[in-house]
Amino acid sequence: MKYFETHTHYNDDVYKDNLDDILKEARDVGVDKFINVGYNKEASIESIKLATKYDDFFAAIGVHPSDVDKDTAQDIYDVYNQNDNKKIVAVGEIGFDFAFVKDNKEKQKRLFIEQIELANTLKLPILIHSRDASLETYNTLKEKKAEYGTLFHCFQPSDDLVRLAIQNGYFVAFGGNITFKRNASFKNYIEKMPIEQIVIETDSPYLSPEPYRGTTNNSSRLPIICKKLAEYKNMDEEYVADTVYNNSMKFFKINNHLEM
Ligand SMILES: [Zn+2]
Repeated sequence: MKYFETHTHYNDDVYKDNLDDILKEARDVGVDKFINVGYNKEASIESIKLATKYDDFFAAIGVHPSDVDKDTAQDIYDVYNQNDNKKIVAVGEIGFDFAFVKDNKEKQKRLFIEQIELANTLKLPILIHSRDASLETYNTLKEKKAEYGTLFHCFQPSDDLVRLAIQNGYFVAFGGNITFKRNASFKNYIEKMPIEQIVIETDSPYLSPEPYRGTTNNSSRLPIICKKLAEYKNMDEEYVADTVYNNSMKFFKINNHLEM
């Protein structure tokens, strides 16, 4: 089976001494595409560097809501224009995070909207980070549509969000947290979500699946997530692996980027 890793941060310092070993391990279990996702200007540039270095890497560029006071949508536009942009496949991760800071909602919203506009200008899809912010995410997407595709990374389903995703054809990425024991409620949502709109991710170095919970994550654990997804979907594992792989290829228009 082959796997498409839709969300990683291999620019993180924890990998600085062993990245090639980690990637070999992932490639050995069948992972043959990786998206390295930016969260500020610097990480976006690092993502492009990885995509330049490795044939099987692609980059997403963007400012995470936690870096709202650090970088701007204009910075990301500059990153796009000042670097080799052939393998930039998305704007992300962008959105809302109210887990720690709630007093800058308007500022987060402005940055989010400006980056949706940027994605529309660049004809790229967006990768959404939404934490403790379902309502704001829902309302903002109603106000400002991403014309080239929307993917909810590390999807935290609720009735409203699942309905919204189905109605609007949004994609959702499931990660290691679907394997956590307290998250058995995921089953009910995963059953409802059409397989055609699902992709998988590890969000490395974060969110290791069981039984590795709490350790530094890596993409060789993607098959664990795929297996759990197949179990919840009550579908053949190989079918699920193939389908989510093809969904990822389509969502990120990988074939177009390979031809550039
Ligand atoms: Zn991330």
